[in-house]
Amino acid sequence: MTILKKVKENLFLAIVALVYIAMFIINPTMGAASVKNSGYYIKEMLMIMPVIFILTALLDMWVPKEKIMRYLGKEAKAKGVFLSFVVGSISAGPIYAAFPMCVMLHKKGASIRNIIIILSSWAVIKVPMLLNEAKFLGPKFMAIRWVLTVIAITIFSWIAAKIIKDEDLPGEVLTQPGLHINRDACMGCTLCAKNYPEVFEMENKKAVTKPYEGLDLDMDKLESAIKSCPVKAISYNEGGEI
Ligand code: SF4
Repeated sequence: MTILKKVKENLFLAIVALVYIAMFIINPTMGAASVKNSGYYIKEMLMIMPVIFILTALLDMWVPKEKIMRYLGKEAKAKGVFLSFVVGSISAGPIYAAFPMCVMLHKKGASIRNIIIILSSWAVIKVPMLLNEAKFLGPKFMAIRWVLTVIAITIFSWIAAKIIKDEDLPGEVLTQPGLHINRDACMGCTLCAKNYPEVFEMENKKAVTKPYEGLDLDMDKLESAIKSCPVKAISYNEGGEI
């Protein structure tokens, strides 16, 4: 039972182990080469990831939530899209280094769309990559691919952000249909609970919403609660979705 439980908990790793075993049985040379390649990438990740975690923690400490929300949040609109392209393009390092950073940015208020743009630019239109591409494949090839890739990322990030919701990512809590509090951003100032006590209350120094089924929302009070939040952690979508 314990082994089965462990396998269930680590299903992905178990599948990978099975694939390796199958490869060793079918083609031992290919199996050995796969293990060698995986070892190389694991070693590379172990060398890079500690630095990335330190940089992410420093950014988390130094860059205030309000700034991330203002420049990369939902309200940043075209400015946020542009900045996300810049952040992704000037980055360095492998794409997996971007994931912890994007988690941190999202927790601090960056929108899903901008996170997708950062990840996509990081993966396919990094400046060092473009320079190499121009050197090997020619500037015309690089320029056309860059323009079309930017257009594609702009469109697909918009579509993806319609499908992926904030609460699908770690650290977000959808508290009531349409009403959403970013609990990681919430600094526990209690202003929302004071402005609209029928809907907001504090729990473990974080704002949560009370059940408001049957309660006609007072939009003036709700608006004032949303506006009063110093870190813009509250959002409301009348359609019931964020
Ligand atoms: S106003 Fe914002 S920061 Fe303050 S408790 Fe409410 S959600 Fe948290």
